[in-house]
Amino acid sequence: MPYAELPKPIRSLLVAGGLEPEAPPERRIFTNRDLNLDRISIVGFDMDYTLAIYRQEAITEVSLRSAVDKLIGRGHPEQLRAVEADPRFAIRGLMVDKRLGNVMKMDRHGYVGRAYHGRRRLSSEERKAIYRFQRLGQERERFAEVDTLFELPEVALFAELVELIDSRPELWPGGKPPGYAEIWQDVRECIDEAHRDGSIKDLVRKDPGAYIERDPDLPETLHKFRSAGKKLFLLTNSFFPYTDAVLRYLLGKSSPSYADWLAYFDWVVVGSGKPGFFGDERPFQELDRKGAMVGAPRLEVQRGKIYQGGNQLGLQASFGVHPDEVLYVGDHIYGDIVRSKKSSGWRTALIVQELQQELAVRRAREITLDEIEALYTLRARIAAQVSAERHLARALGRVTVEELMAREGLDEAAATRLLETTRASVRRQVERLRAYEEETREILDRRGLEVDETFNPYWGSSFSERHDTSRFGSQVEYYACIYTSRVSNFRYVSPSKYFISPHGSMPHWHVG
Ligand code: IMP
Ligand code: MG
Repeated sequence: MPYAELPKPIRSLLVAGGLEPEAPPERRIFTNRDLNLDRISIVGFDMDYTLAIYRQEAITEVSLRSAVDKLIGRGHPEQLRAVEADPRFAIRGLMVDKRLGNVMKMDRHGYVGRAYHGRRRLSSEERKAIYRFQRLGQERERFAEVDTLFELPEVALFAELVELIDSRPELWPGGKPPGYAEIWQDVRECIDEAHRDGSIKDLVRKDPGAYIERDPDLPETLHKFRSAGKKLFLLTNSFFPYTDAVLRYLLGKSSPSYADWLAYFDWVVVGSGKPGFFGDERPFQELDRKGAMVGAPRLEVQRGKIYQGGNQLGLQASFGVHPDEVLYVGDHIYGDIVRSKKSSGWRTALIVQELQQELAVRRAREITLDEIEALYTLRARIAAQVSAERHLARALGRVTVEELMAREGLDEAAATRLLETTRASVRRQVERLRAYEEETREILDRRGLEVDETFNPYWGSSFSERHDTSRFGSQVEYYACIYTSRVSNFRYVSPSKYFISPHGSMPHWHVG
């Protein structure tokens, strides 16, 4: 019986007794690859953007401001201070063409679906002229991928600076602004510095609530895993003082059964240097509860202690279970998920904060999205017919009156008439279908634009491009066993749930 159909008093009674309430759609967990939670004995968590959900606008603002300060310090014009970057301009999964100053979004085949130069959208002619033959994988140096939400401010800032370089070159000494690749490098270095020198972290530590959302369901979710007998670990690139401040805010004093945030985790690894953590053989440095170093670096670790650095094999050895009994939950498509999938054998869960809005929009625009789907199929059918009719018209064009007379024994007038009327009717059919196709395309474009606006005015949905999965969407699908919008969504599922994927199919499996 569906949960929602149970009488309400019974439902609340069951929930009070520990049964999971039904998850609202935005908080569901999605499966790409079957995963039996019952078989998972150890669950690991990344911290930033995984356990800690940042307030994107606030963190973007401080990242931008500190990067601008640093850029001006490096000799860029004072006028940069007036730059207002639109935070909506950057989304995860974009690709930056450093050389040409463009930002683009690709479909799952690596084809560039839309692109901006600075803040100006390239026309499809411009886009095709540059990227039609550009294959991903060539010129790796030239492109940068936007894999984490931490990278959004630099993309938004880069686009603004490209605008400024084009429109006001006189701001730079001698009217000679830097090249696009050079300004990209400067922005990258300044943001990197801002992360390292405390420009961002000091502010967050001082007032975590302004930058991080405290998820009230998080402590209970972790506790639920532990009560089911699972061991937990923390694996973060943040260093101890910052980790301590953030997790104290998120988990400290959350429950009388846990003295502090450390009590939730059996292993704690900070400053892990992912993705290198998954391949290198760096030693672990033990830390005390104040973050001070204890003893010499070592290769093996023990449960219940705090370490800095280290490597995946060393941590795995301490777990004492097969790697496929370990589930690692992270937000970084490359640093947490791709690398761990390729080298650790751990199962993976990806936290995709963007799903929350994606699902809300999909729900609000359900009818239009269904219409688009139907129109798209219709357009493909019409296009196939147009092409068949055109093929026919070309074949008819080659037939001569003489041939028809000789083969069918017709006189000249009858053969001419028959050929003309047949040709005319095929022509009419082609014209009719072409008009139909055009009309369908127009509605499709209009509807597409409408929903794109709702997802994101510059890029549409992060997960799709041109009625297909976007490059980001296909990475999520390929690399993450399961994915969801936030860690606490696990509170809605049983700790022994068997996640089963909607098994895929190939186009040729459906031949009627
Ligand atoms: P994790 O997601 O918990 O592994 O931690 C990510 C850490 O990387 C956070 O401490 C961020 O501040 C830090 N971080 C993100 N981007 C940069 C960067 O560009 N340079 C240096 N640190 C960064
Ligand atoms: Mg992270």
